[in-house]
Amino acid sequence: MIYLDNSSTTRQYDEVTRYMAEVAGNSFGNPSSLHGLGLEAEKLMKEGRRKIALGFNASPDEVYITSCGTESDNTVLMGIARVPRPRAKKIITTAVEHPAVLEPAAEMERRGFEVVRLGVDGHGMIDLDELKEALSADTLLISVMAVNNEVGTIMPLKEIGEIKRAFNKANGTKVLLHTDAVQALGKISLDTKKDLKDVDLISASAHKIHGPKGIGSLYVRKGTNLMPFMLGGGQEKGFRSGTENVPSVSGFGLACEMAAGDMEARVAHMREVRDYLKKGIMDSISDIRINSPEDGVCSVLNVSFIGTRGEVILHRLEDDGIYVSTGSACSSNHKTSKGSHVLNAMGLKPKEIEGALRFSFSEFNTIEEMDLVLDRLKTSVEGFRRLGSFR
Ligand code: PLP
Repeated sequence: MIYLDNSSTTRQYDEVTRYMAEVAGNSFGNPSSLHGLGLEAEKLMKEGRRKIALGFNASPDEVYITSCGTESDNTVLMGIARVPRPRAKKIITTAVEHPAVLEPAAEMERRGFEVVRLGVDGHGMIDLDELKEALSADTLLISVMAVNNEVGTIMPLKEIGEIKRAFNKANGTKVLLHTDAVQALGKISLDTKKDLKDVDLISASAHKIHGPKGIGSLYVRKGTNLMPFMLGGGQEKGFRSGTENVPSVSGFGLACEMAAGDMEARVAHMREVRDYLKKGIMDSISDIRINSPEDGVCSVLNVSFIGTRGEVILHRLEDDGIYVSTGSACSSNHKTSKGSHVLNAMGLKPKEIEGALRFSFSEFNTIEEMDLVLDRLKTSVEGFRRLGSFR
């Protein structure tokens, strides 16, 4: 099997699987219990949180555990409404966010908030002047993803943060900046004391970095006012009630530690594999459009094979044990008849959207695998173009 769908989810590290089994089997206490087993579970929570915080160069008490990236995004987009700023009613986001942001934003719109969706250029990049124009005294929140999940565009969060800071200073406002960093963790720096020092809220998810599914985090900068999403027993300092998922938090922590370990080497490897495949496609297959920007994230390569249907090529590759995606697996229910909302926002023509495939990489992929992928891809694309369709 050649797995090239790592933006959808990754294979869990064996070390994580073993560690989680150990925690689930032996340290099954409730962290709220006062006896020894409870204390042991509480210690594991503390350790997991400390390791997750390392991913953001943050203090562990700024990290809140959630059930997934989607929950983190929803907590921000919907929780923001309950922050007591009666006049503020505007949310600025982008047209290319994951549905985990777009859908709660649309719900807020139905509830009377104003939502501005910034457009993007042909590389999936927003225009900072458009952001500046959209900002007004009644803005509550800016939410811009760190890395786009379909094409891999890296958004300029440092600059967005500077714009937000200058706006707040000039107008005495408290506009908050959130980023969905689900596709960015482990691939680019998310340092809340450097480039992201003006970002107030960061969503992340474990299963994109070889951690377990169904566990995520929300970084909340100290002093940021955000209302809790789940009320109950008061866990997570009252921010997110519910008995803690200790094995998954432990697994998430270990995955963060491993991903951060030698991030530069892992990123360099993914980039090498991605670039090898990209060059191979450009050299051997005609009539293509590379949809990922040159300076995009190391883990994503989105290409349109014009005159084909991405979905058919995907299944042809699957017959050869190669797993790719036509876009975002997590948003498959949101595809319209016009195809990917990201490629549409980038201004691609229908034929380019129809023939798009996303290859997404992890540290486990190799150059040798790419030779095989290129061979099968060329056969599938040329075959489709000759015959129209295989299936
Ligand atoms: N945000 C982005 C950019 C994603 O790519 C995904 C999943 O693909 C999510 C949010 C949702 O994360 P989760 O699957 O943990 O809910």
